[in-house]
Amino acid sequence: MARIPPDTARLMRPEAACLEPYDPAFVPCEVNLSANENDFELPRDVHEAVQMALLSVPTNRYPDPLANDLRDRIASWYGVSRENVFVGNGGDEIIFDFFLAFGGPGHVLLNCPPTFSVYDLYSRMVGTRVLDVWRDPETMLPNVDALVEAAPGTNLAVVTSPNNPTGDLFPLDGVERLLEACPGPVMVDEAYGEFARPGTSSLPLLAAHPNLVVLHTLSKAFGMAGARVGYVIANPGVVAALAAVRQPYSVNVFSQVAAEAVVSRRTAFVDVISSIRTEREVMWRALVDLGASSPVTVWPSEANFLLVRVPHAHELRDRLVRDASILVRDFSAAPGLADCLRITVGTPSENERLLAALKETIREELS
Ligand SMILES: *Cc1c(COP(=O)(O)O)cnc(C)c1O
Repeated sequence: MARIPPDTARLMRPEAACLEPYDPAFVPCEVNLSANENDFELPRDVHEAVQMALLSVPTNRYPDPLANDLRDRIASWYGVSRENVFVGNGGDEIIFDFFLAFGGPGHVLLNCPPTFSVYDLYSRMVGTRVLDVWRDPETMLPNVDALVEAAPGTNLAVVTSPNNPTGDLFPLDGVERLLEACPGPVMVDEAYGEFARPGTSSLPLLAAHPNLVVLHTLSKAFGMAGARVGYVIANPGVVAALAAVRQPYSVNVFSQVAAEAVVSRRTAFVDVISSIRTEREVMWRALVDLGASSPVTVWPSEANFLLVRVPHAHELRDRLVRDASILVRDFSAAPGLADCLRITVGTPSENERLLAALKETIREELS
């Protein structure tokens, strides 16, 4: 995608003019391990239920703006009420609504990079100042003490657990301290929560902390990235604030019924999720072993991807595309992520193919 030409940028607000069109450098490849999607097929009965639901959708009427049927299903999943649930066009839209509602000029976001880049992007887009408390450059772990210390001077915070692209969990006692220290809402982005070990979600903290906002999505574990459905569990006040700033019909009728079919059959995903977790450990072990004989570093991960540091990462990514038709995500130009690639855990055959190709390209590139 082309950048904004100067004569057009001149007509825009400075916060918007300095942006660049989102471009994850997608190129069609036989194996796509670049976007943390679920590479397994949908469980057969889920797939059929989605197809059936789509067949009977009336398209002449606007969708239910709040997706109340879907909210009810999500609410009963989590044992909360409809008023605690907000649905959006992917988690991305909810993140934007969160900054629109609670950020803006005069407001400060507490952010913990390297992390999901849209927090910084969206908050700046609506004129929010961003206060970055950087992770440890070696371990990639967050500096919880520094975050807690900075929190009282901010208006809202976002942390990611497991974090994208570093894969680590944000410690629960750290979330609790942030909830107490931050005068405004704290979003805990659990987009990859289903891949993490049990007992690591922040959700149980909601009862005691009304400023907690927990974000989930159907895009990752539940294989629905194309349908664009995310949701938040929060107290009714936060849900009302998000509902007030949202685009009314952003979650279309097809996505609503497809998501209802998936949510009501969510237990069918248990095996797929557990396969991805097993494959993650297999991949991690193989990359650790590779690191014994070559300059490869891999961080532990509780998500469906692994962050790898290897010299000439950018060239390696291009070689993987060219020679092996495998796409991984290149983060080597991102601050704090020099020479880092993010590799999504795919199916066993995709992962084997990636490992073989990676070994080969590293040998060629670094010889
Ligand atoms: C993928 C992702 C999301 C949301 O993705 P959607 O497809 O918009 O639901 C949110 N946060 C993080 C950290 C992600 O990686």
